[in-house]
Amino acid sequence: MAWQRTLARAVETEGVGIHSGANVKIRLRPAPVGTGVVFVRTDLGVAIPARAEHARDFSFATTIGVRGAEVGTIEHLMSALYALGITNVFVDISGPEVPVLDGSALPFVQMIKRAGVMEQSSSFPEVRLLKTVRVEDGDRFVELHPSETFSVDYRVRYKAPVVGDQRLTFTVSPERYATAIAPARTFGFLSDVKALRDRGLGRGGSLSNCVIVDEHRVLSGRLRFRDEFVRHKVLDLIGDLALLEYPLRAHVVAHKAGHALHVAAVRELLSQPEAWELFEPERVTPLSVHPFAMEPAAQAVAG
Ligand SMILES: [Zn+2]
Repeated sequence: MAWQRTLARAVETEGVGIHSGANVKIRLRPAPVGTGVVFVRTDLGVAIPARAEHARDFSFATTIGVRGAEVGTIEHLMSALYALGITNVFVDISGPEVPVLDGSALPFVQMIKRAGVMEQSSSFPEVRLLKTVRVEDGDRFVELHPSETFSVDYRVRYKAPVVGDQRLTFTVSPERYATAIAPARTFGFLSDVKALRDRGLGRGGSLSNCVIVDEHRVLSGRLRFRDEFVRHKVLDLIGDLALLEYPLRAHVVAHKAGHALHVAAVRELLSQPEAWELFEPERVTPLSVHPFAMEPAAQAVAG
């Protein structure tokens, strides 16, 4: 991830937002160096950079907003972009929430692959930790530890025996993310559905875009992984860490955390400038730049 990257061409899809129930069109398109990930509410004409300072409302999803315009449930798309190293992209969106599609990040990984990835002629520094940063809420916590790689150790503990205790330790690479994390779907408990709907949430949720469980059973067909639940938590965590905007070299330990704590960890890191540094790993020629491309033509003219 030494070079900034964007998409080679625009790609689009549409679908329902899991909480709003709104049908939304989304289009990912190439963006110049230094753009970052910028959501553009095409219905309102407002651009919202995906940064920790714009994050708000962490009830069951992560929302960003500026000047009264919001985009909700950004985390699965953000997760795919971050894990695949896409640093600059415009996300045109026609409504208030990113489509949930199948509940995982796999459709976004497939969109990015369909678009193609283009390295840009500008390098990109990474964030390296100099000391451990921790945020907590009761027995829940997120810790960012100094490390040469980006790795995650996530533990969840649910009362429902069908989920129970799950733990995943994972070193993030684009290839491993695409096969082991991206396909893991969002999940919910049948006992929470009514409360969620009473709050006006979950209106677009269904058995086809969410793994629904009761105490002892999975009600929405076969799981994609035996430990799909903790894999999805890792997916969400990566999507929230993406609000840092820079690639992260850290070992991230999360225990019973969620969107609010994930984003709090990013904000805590940014508030402690002595805890990290920006560094540029290695300077190599980006694949998309061919400095000698003009020479044969010049020779042909000369000859
Ligand atoms: Zn999620």
